[in-house]
Amino acid sequence: MTDPETLSVTIVDGYVDEPAHFGVPPYISTYPRYAAGALVDAGVPRDRITYHTIDRLRDEPDYWRDVDEADLLLYLGGMTVPGKYVGGTPAEPDEVRKMAWTASGTTLMGGPVKFGVGDENAGATETERDDLDFDFVAKGDVEAAVYDLVESGLEGFNNRMRDVDEVSRWAQEGAFIVEQHPNHPDHLIAELETSRGCAYRCSFCTEPLYGNPTFRPPPSVVGEVDALSDYGVKHFRIGRQADILAYGGDGEAPNPDALRQLYSGIREVAPDLETLHLDNMNPITIVEWPEASREGIRIIAEHNTPGDTAAFGLESADPIVQEENNLNVTAEECFQAVKIVNEEAGWRPEDRSETEGVDNGPPTRLPKLLPGINLLHGLKGEREETYERNREFLQRVYDEGYMLRRINIRQVMAFDGTEMSDTGAAIANEHKQLFKRYKTRVREEIDQPMLERVAPPGTVLPNVHLEYHQDGKTFGRQLGTYPLLVGIPGERELERTIDIAVVDHGYRSVTGVPYPLDLNDASMDELTAIPGIGDRTAGDIVVNRPYETVADADLETQFDLSQFVTARGLEHAR
Ligand code: SF4
Repeated sequence: MTDPETLSVTIVDGYVDEPAHFGVPPYISTYPRYAAGALVDAGVPRDRITYHTIDRLRDEPDYWRDVDEADLLLYLGGMTVPGKYVGGTPAEPDEVRKMAWTASGTTLMGGPVKFGVGDENAGATETERDDLDFDFVAKGDVEAAVYDLVESGLEGFNNRMRDVDEVSRWAQEGAFIVEQHPNHPDHLIAELETSRGCAYRCSFCTEPLYGNPTFRPPPSVVGEVDALSDYGVKHFRIGRQADILAYGGDGEAPNPDALRQLYSGIREVAPDLETLHLDNMNPITIVEWPEASREGIRIIAEHNTPGDTAAFGLESADPIVQEENNLNVTAEECFQAVKIVNEEAGWRPEDRSETEGVDNGPPTRLPKLLPGINLLHGLKGEREETYERNREFLQRVYDEGYMLRRINIRQVMAFDGTEMSDTGAAIANEHKQLFKRYKTRVREEIDQPMLERVAPPGTVLPNVHLEYHQDGKTFGRQLGTYPLLVGIPGERELERTIDIAVVDHGYRSVTGVPYPLDLNDASMDELTAIPGIGDRTAGDIVVNRPYETVADADLETQFDLSQFVTARGLEHAR
């Protein structure tokens, strides 16, 4: 019998990406937090629990010692939707196998990896179940498995799901683990779970494998936010749910009172939070219960932070594909839902500031909450016309003046246990060329003009975290749900944050300059990035420095430069 008091445990986070749960840095998923809480609840002292991300193991190989020496190695990971990530690289199956071979103690793995593993983490692939040479695979909830395993003296466990009391307790008790995340404290966003499961049964999706929706009551989630903020977390995303509007209801219809308790409770216990975003919202809920949904959307927009996105899983605008894959929303219904979110939540913070009713000039912040659209290709029944229908849907949204925060187009991954597993990746592979052409067209014809509408020149994005250099530019993003990628002229110091003003738009990214840009200090590249400032004007600005005020620079441009520039730092300029 192993005494929990003396047990050493290493948790390795290989990252997760599920339809309704994200955990690639800067996100931390619920898995390591809950598992750490379950370990503490089972009697393992906090200081005997070590947490590493897979990227830390790659960057600092000495940490493999912790994999080797722990009495219990817990691996958490699994990708059930494919994607490309800037903040981290998910563990590949070979790396996970190496962990099992390296570990001297007992090994357990869990998370969505239980649904299957592909040859690599990519779209248009098929997956199969594989234990990757671990002693145990948690086929139920990994946090329940680890609790029961420790309780049994590392002998074994029954696969089971945890209950609401357990998750409420473990979520709070495991909050301490965030301090061991390499991104802690400033560049870390905690994914919050409000429910699991789904009332619908789309053919490709792993979420129904969790059954019908079950909700965590508001005090459970709010208590967790309280604990996480005590450990320095300031950024939150309510992303672990199939449909935020259904929160606390009967599984399908909205319950605005529960949403109010959730959102206002979070604001109360974490008044200094810097990000509060969400992820999934089901458009069918909006169409079927429009009034309650409007109220729910208003509540969210009153409490969230700007730039929030409600991801709509339209998946296909083609009725044949919808029919064959049990998709629950038609293109027309999704359009109505897009309209309603725009009407209720598409406002910008300055629209509701004290100067309400006064013309505040050009927009200065991102809208509070906008829809995003997910489109999925390679589904059963897909044909050439499917691509045209999808494009037409997006074009209509643009032509009728509405905003989408982002369009996510991807190819299906077929998992065992979902209806797509028979079809596999065959259709996706057959349509690869078609998919590529269509994707480029959407990027050029819809994404870019839409981005100009959502974030016109002069929009300020506070706290952009600078991540990497490329082609003489610095790229960074805000923390939040689907943050915009921002390119800034010049190579600036990385791993710090700056405020930027948007000056130009690419297909899926914007160009920005530091905000406000100091005329006495700005580089030529930064000055010429501002609309209306060419090489000559920029040259004149530099030559005639310093300036006491922006007016001294006597700039003749069609643009209102006060949106971008200031004149300070005279001592620097001299
Ligand atoms: S509505 Fe469909 S895609 Fe969305 S979570 Fe439910 S089953 Fe998955």
